[in-house]
Amino acid sequence: TTDATTDTATATTLDPLADVRPAAVEVHGAHKWFGANHVLAGIDLTVQPGQVAVILGPSGSGKSTLLRTVNHLEKLDRGHVSVNGELIGVRRHGGRLKELGERAILRQRAGIGFVFQNFNLFPHLTALENVAAAPVATGRVDKAAARELAAELLARVGLADKNGAYPRQLSGGQQQRVAIARALALRPGVILFDEPTSALDPELVGEVLGVIDDLASTGTTLVVVTHEIGFARRVADLVVFLDHGVVVEQGTPAEVLDHPRHPRTRDFLAKVL
Ligand code: ADP
Ligand code: MG
Repeated sequence: TTDATTDTATATTLDPLADVRPAAVEVHGAHKWFGANHVLAGIDLTVQPGQVAVILGPSGSGKSTLLRTVNHLEKLDRGHVSVNGELIGVRRHGGRLKELGERAILRQRAGIGFVFQNFNLFPHLTALENVAAAPVATGRVDKAAARELAAELLARVGLADKNGAYPRQLSGGQQQRVAIARALALRPGVILFDEPTSALDPELVGEVLGVIDDLASTGTTLVVVTHEIGFARRVADLVVFLDHGVVVEQGTPAEVLDHPRHPRTRDFLAKVL
């Protein structure tokens, strides 16, 4: 039809490389059970390089599990995930898939930043040491270079004066910004955020979302689970609504947030807006 032709032409104009670059994140036919609980029930999802994808959905819908499978913190029972064209947790061996060893999985995980709801900082390390720890552990840089990079990253998230502070001396918003700096330290191709502001007092939410806004504008691929609809509207290229382990609908913020087609999406938005 005329419409289909127009869509193709538009997509080509917007991103001429879309057909030749691998997706930043690709989830294909993902299934996960916890016992009898079918937590991911056939998920397909594609996030292109440089895109910001926001995942919405009720509590228990499988959002965290989905993110965790991308980073191989959980293993899929069926289906697969790839990040920048590389399969996560497995490799092709002849015609079959073979599981990767622990070292290969750690290497893959190092290329994917993860920011947790509860910050998960090392309590006995300073902000600077928290950010420098992973680059030092991977042996990619020496200690001095890692500390220099960590100081740069802390400055980038607005914490230049907190290098020596321990997590307990920082507000929740500051701790989460340290966690974001830490996620950046390995120069990941993709950063995953699991409800990065839901453990924060309301007045601290803005400072963390501001840092994520900045990251989005630098073209880093981000996948963000959040209930912050304003953030989604402002920053997302793709909004995905998940319920009972399936993608109920996905599209642009205008499509999913302003003109949701599915009753379950409408119910959910009515509750969070
Ligand atoms: P969401 O992040 O959307 O709230 P989750 O992915 O955390 O949802 O959880 C989806 C479902 O899987 C829930 O029913 C939860 O209780 C269950 N679940 C999550 N993690 C585990 C686990 N490690 N063991 C057993 N059940 C789990
Ligand atoms: Mg969750």
